[in-house]
Order: sequence, then C-alpha cells, then structure tokens
Amino acid sequence: MDSSIEIKQLVRNNIRELVPYSSARDEYSGSASVFLDANENPYNTPLNRYPDPKQLELKKVIAQIKGQQVANLFLGNGSDEGIDLLFRVLCEPGRDNVIAIDPTYGMYSVCAKINNVDQKHVLLDKDFGLDPNRVLEAVDNRTKMIFLCSPNNPTSNSLEPEAMVRIIDGVNCMVVVDEAYIDFSREQGILSLVPEKKNLVVLQTLSKAWGLAGIRLGMVFAHQELIGYLSGVKYPYNINSLSLAEAMKSLRDTGARENWVHRILEERKKLIEQLKSLAFVKKVYPSDANFLLVQMENPGQVYSYLMEKGIIVRDRSSVPLCDGCLRITVGTETENRQLCNVLAAYDQTLEN
Ligand SMILES: *Cc1c(COP(=O)(O)O)cnc(C)c1O
Repeated sequence: MDSSIEIKQLVRNNIRELVPYSSARDEYSGSASVFLDANENPYNTPLNRYPDPKQLELKKVIAQIKGQQVANLFLGNGSDEGIDLLFRVLCEPGRDNVIAIDPTYGMYSVCAKINNVDQKHVLLDKDFGLDPNRVLEAVDNRTKMIFLCSPNNPTSNSLEPEAMVRIIDGVNCMVVVDEAYIDFSREQGILSLVPEKKNLVVLQTLSKAWGLAGIRLGMVFAHQELIGYLSGVKYPYNINSLSLAEAMKSLRDTGARENWVHRILEERKKLIEQLKSLAFVKKVYPSDANFLLVQMENPGQVYSYLMEKGIIVRDRSSVPLCDGCLRITVGTETENRQLCNVLAAYDQTLEN
C-alpha cells in the first residue's frame, strides 16, 4: 500500500494551505557579518542572537550518527513537541482518530485529548506482545496515526519488528514508532526503514541514553514532505541556543553514551536477579529498556515504604495488564544497592 500513500492527503486542509511564518534568519542565507535584520540587541551577551530556526549544524551531526538524511529529520523541544505537532498537522479535531497500543506512554492520549482527537486503544496480549491484526481491525477511514512504542513504556519489551512492518504495510495512515529506549534494546529498531516507508515516523530522544533530559531535544525521522509540514507549524525558534550548544558538545562524545548504556545494562542484569530473590516479588518482566516492570504483592504498600525511605518509583498497578506492578528505573550502582537494601528490609518485616 506504501506507494499509493499521499502524505498531502493525510494532512489537514488548513495546514496544507499554510504559509509558514518566515523569520529574519529564515530568509537570510549566505555569509554576512553585520546583522541588522532581526531587531536583536547588538551587544554580545553571548546569547543576544536568535538561534538557527532550521538547526542545520546539529541536524547534520545527528543525521550522520543515525545514518539518515537531514531532510528526513525534525528536531523538537523533546519528543513531546514532535508528538503534539503530529496531531496538529494530521488530525482534524472532532473528526479524525488515532490508535495506540495499551498500555503505553501517556503523552499520546494526553495530546489526543488536548487536540480533541479520538483515541482507540488496542490491548497488547498478556505477555505484552503486539498482534498486528487487532491493530489493523481498529483502523477506519478517519484514522490518521497509529502509535507503537518499542521498547514500550511501561511494559519494557520491544515489539516484534515483523508485526510493526505488517501494520506499516497494511495501512494508509501514519505509523509512529516511539524508540525513546532503543539504545537499551537488543533490537536494532526500525529507523533504517524510514527512507523506504513513506508512512513511517520514528521518534527518538536525547532524554534517556544520551543523559540530556534537561535540554529537551527530541528527534522525528520521517518522509521529507511530512518533515516540511512539521517545520512549518513549529515555533520558529523551538530549540534554544543553550540546548543547541549542549547537544553539539555531547553528541561529539559518543563514548560517554556507550559507557552509560553499558553500565546501565550491567546494573539492569544485577537488579533483575536481586529483585527476583525477594519473596514478595512475583515477576520481573524481561526488559529492553532502562527500567523494570516488577509485579509484586501489595504494590501500593511497597511504594509507600520506599517513599518513606526516600526512594521514588512509579506505581503502574492501575494500568491495564500491569496489575500489581511498580516501574523501577535502573539507577547508579549505589542507588540500586540502596533500593535493594530497603526492599530486603521490607521483605524482613513481612516474615516477622
Ligand atoms: C521518556 C520518553 C520519551 C521522551 O520524551 P522527551 O520529551 O524526548 O523527553 C518519549 N517517549 C517515551 C515512550 C518515553 O518513555
């Protein structure tokens, strides 16, 4: 179905016809030395100048690291900006709908609600596997996007690449695959399919493996036509100068990321074993991410006990299929030891 997809036909009428705001720095290209075009303060603070609205320099670095073309890359104020812009570009409020797997990351449904777009939920199976047929059955002619998250938050597993491709090849709408945790996965991810699948959108972020949640830098990889629409709708200077500079600096040091990922994966392995040895823990789900979904007796009580000891985890026990589950991020070696000590003490209180 791929070749018949017309991105233009998926985009809202008002967006298709939009003439984007053109900033001073958009219109200028070349090499000038006197900038009297943007009403900036001329005195170097050194943050007196507007940042590059196209973030070209940073995009080149990211595109190279990811083996993608600059034209297929959009940068946002976190992945969250990308998600919201996808709704605003593609979904007619009160009319169109999206589909998301369930359970999954909460931002998709919050953005759907903010944009007054109906969201249908397709439950994963009890081992958190994805049945492509159930997703395909939920699609109708008002469906504009399907959200898949792999590795999935909060279930921590990767979705089957073949199942995702079956969905991508079986629909006329956009399929958004959120790969925020891909660096921690044994799967490669499906970013490499972006050039050949016109309706595939892949989200990645600097917030997790790259250790840069504070600078808010999310990546959207997609067909260049869709990237063009996203770029036309974003705030002109959506990535600020400080974030651009910090990203450039950190991306040069890929060794730091590899080292962190390696340590986190080692710690994940240790933590799984330690959690499994606790009597009140029923199940530690296999993880492809930097967190663990742990099923236990009385998760609410464990949550409160940890909180009293100054350790915060995420209670996911009221989420579909996550009965009895806490979500625990893999911390530093010291933090994980603290966690395990507190949980062992809790285990003791149960036995006495
Ligand atoms: C953490 C997370 C993100 C990251 O969002 P940013 O806005 O880039 O910080 C995206 N998707 C999922 C599923 C996440 O868990």
